[in-house]
Amino acid sequence: MQLQDVSKVAIIGAGQMGRGIAQVAAEAGYAVALCDVELERAQDAQQFIEQQWAKRVARGKLSAEASASNTERLSPQLVGEGTAEAQIIIEAATENVDLKLGLFAELDRTAPPEALLCSNTSSISITRLAAATTRPTRVEGVHFMNPVPIMRLVELIRGLSTSDETHELLSGFAEKLGKTVVTSLDSPGFIVNRILIPMLNEACFTLSEGVASVTDIDQAIHLGLAHPMGPLRLADLIGLDTVLAIAEV
Ligand code: NAD
Repeated sequence: MQLQDVSKVAIIGAGQMGRGIAQVAAEAGYAVALCDVELERAQDAQQFIEQQWAKRVARGKLSAEASASNTERLSPQLVGEGTAEAQIIIEAATENVDLKLGLFAELDRTAPPEALLCSNTSSISITRLAAATTRPTRVEGVHFMNPVPIMRLVELIRGLSTSDETHELLSGFAEKLGKTVVTSLDSPGFIVNRILIPMLNEACFTLSEGVASVTDIDQAIHLGLAHPMGPLRLADLIGLDTVLAIAEV
């Protein structure tokens, strides 16, 4: 399969990351099935994305026609129903290894045999997820940053068996979504979270040892290191459940 053969993408998990990935994929011209365990969650995400486009139309940053055609390309679906025709499937469900292993086994059974199965996991081994499928050469980590429409990086994580063809196709796909790609070995936390999560953890220790207040810790890193926000605020943005899951990996 070549990048030009890809027209349909499915996103599994319509939380903060899944909806961001769905938004940028629809903007890049792909038909996007945004899937969750309850249709209502996928529909909420669709509404949220449409509001983002409406705000950009109101600010004169997006034409009403482009917004309408983006909307036409996006469809909320139940997981299990939205993947039948997708060429690229990106799993962005809760950061839980057993849940993702189950999802990869199920996606392998239900998705077209040539489809690429990708995970937006922050830390879980891609080789392990690939081993739950019969197509490990077509499995790769595609790790977007939060918030997806704003952050320019995509980290690609090659599993032990990921083929060059899969890697090249997904590099091109991420670039088509306006992202810059870096490649990591399949090692815990990959590049970004291997470096970020110890810092967030250390910020929690700094607070719990009474070294400084929440405001001062965040202010110190925001102004002192020119980070866009302090580590405690960033941990809240990522979601403390997700931060803990990554730290444990
Ligand atoms: P979230 O809690 O906002 O969303 C998770 C979504 O997955 C929910 O809508 C939930 O209903 C859905 N879900 C759970 N089980 C499912 C299943 N079996 N099938 C389909 N959908 C299912 O979480 P998030 O922050 O969007 O994180 C999703 C993934 O992205 C995680 O792997 C996380 O590590 C990764 N990630 C998160 C961030 C971040 O900053 N939050 C950044 C990069 C990557």
